[in-house]
Amino acid sequence: MEYRKLSIYNTLTRSKEIFKSIHSDSVGLYVCGPTVYSNVHLGNCRTFVSFDLMFRYLLHLGYKVRYVRNITDAGHLEGDRDEGDDKFAKKAKLEQLEPMEIVQKYTLGFHHVLELFNTLPPSIEPTATGHICEQIEMIKVIVDNGYAYEKDGSVYFDVEKYTKKYNYGELTNRKLEDLLVNTRELGGQNEKKGRLDFALWIHAKPEHIMRWPSPWGWGFPGWHIECSAMSKKYLGEQFDIHGGGMDLQATHHTNEIAQSIACHGTGPARYWVHSNMLTVNGTRMSKSAGNGFLPLELFSGNHPLLERAYTPMSVRFFMMQTHYRSTLDFSNEALKASEKGYRRLMNAVSLLDNLKISSHTDFDISVSIERCYAAMNDDFNSSILIAELFEWVRIINTINDGKASIDETNFKLLNTSMKSFVFDVLGLLQESDNSETLNRVMNFVIDMRKKAKSEKNYATADYIRDALQDIGIQIKDGKDDVTWNLV
Ligand code: AMP
Ligand code: ZN
Repeated sequence: MEYRKLSIYNTLTRSKEIFKSIHSDSVGLYVCGPTVYSNVHLGNCRTFVSFDLMFRYLLHLGYKVRYVRNITDAGHLEGDRDEGDDKFAKKAKLEQLEPMEIVQKYTLGFHHVLELFNTLPPSIEPTATGHICEQIEMIKVIVDNGYAYEKDGSVYFDVEKYTKKYNYGELTNRKLEDLLVNTRELGGQNEKKGRLDFALWIHAKPEHIMRWPSPWGWGFPGWHIECSAMSKKYLGEQFDIHGGGMDLQATHHTNEIAQSIACHGTGPARYWVHSNMLTVNGTRMSKSAGNGFLPLELFSGNHPLLERAYTPMSVRFFMMQTHYRSTLDFSNEALKASEKGYRRLMNAVSLLDNLKISSHTDFDISVSIERCYAAMNDDFNSSILIAELFEWVRIINTINDGKASIDETNFKLLNTSMKSFVFDVLGLLQESDNSETLNRVMNFVIDMRKKAKSEKNYATADYIRDALQDIGIQIKDGKDDVTWNLV
């Protein structure tokens, strides 16, 4: 089987395409990062965990991946508009901090949370404020090429001019007339020639703290140009994959494409990949809707909508169980079910190290390995991969119970494939539920139960077994031994 026959759903062509990288063994991947003016909520994390899965799988396939994920630390205005409050300045006033203190505080928080989710760090994490020169240079070229104009110290992209030659609504397959109908009259329109024009550079008043000198006077860059400038700097004029949440398609990514084409004649990426939203009771989780859980609230159980705490790995597993292009609805029930699934999977992984090997085999593992690759090669379908891994869980448990056998060849395949899919591709970790302390406590409890039984105090022995069951620990009485596992 050709393990590298990966197909990816490309938003640009609205179809699944066989992935072919520009340079044979390397992949350039750009993902829009967070705007660090507040804590990331669970929805934001879903997007970054989805792209972590893709990054991991590309690495697993042997590609050398340069993964660039930016930090938006300037230029993002309220409501994603070209006018109005700067998100950082507003928060800085509110928290009585410098805007850069806000940036530092929430960047550290973002890194901490993503580390708890066991995501791999990107290869480069550039900031918008660190690339003002590159953004100015790009805007200058767009102006020189005739696709942008200056008005009162701000520079706007001329969408009407662009549409004379190119298709502005290409990414989301929308016609210009429809776009115009759907665009509200917003502030700042007086300065713009056309209603769809957007800011590349925004004039800043003297009281604005985060501002820089430019050929058009003091100001700051628009939100969209930062990604165009930074992706170009680190990945080139055209690279392989550009990603982000689906909510970024219509404006941010549409504008990124227009800027790159207006600057150097090509769109930035060959494959545009968009992950779907995390919802709560069907409503998209967002800061403005006020339904945003913070991951740390989830891990501590400290939120009115949470029945209890959930561990980072059961939440990661919850995300992996749904394909990245489907919506994922948050509920206590769904998380509890995922926690059970995660524990069952991890329990089977830990049984692998002591599994009995026979000369006879009841299983041919190679066929099911192919099914795992087929799942991941079909647009990173981790949901089907996990269903396949549960078939391995069943096999491992059957062998462990002495009801079936596996030979050395098949065991080696099972052992390495299970561990690499679980740890390297899905990015799961064994959580410390099985920690040394828990082991010791369990040995003690099992001894107490043995003692009760030897004194014919069966009521106490049953009570201990049932109470553990309620906590989620199952005791099994073997012929010579008592074993336990998390259920
Ligand atoms: P922001 O910090 O608002 O720029 O968002 C960072 C990333 O999170 C973007 O890629 C968004 O598309 C993504 N995002 C925002 N809300 C959600 C959500 N409810 N579910 C999944 N991704 C989201
Ligand atoms: Zn971006």
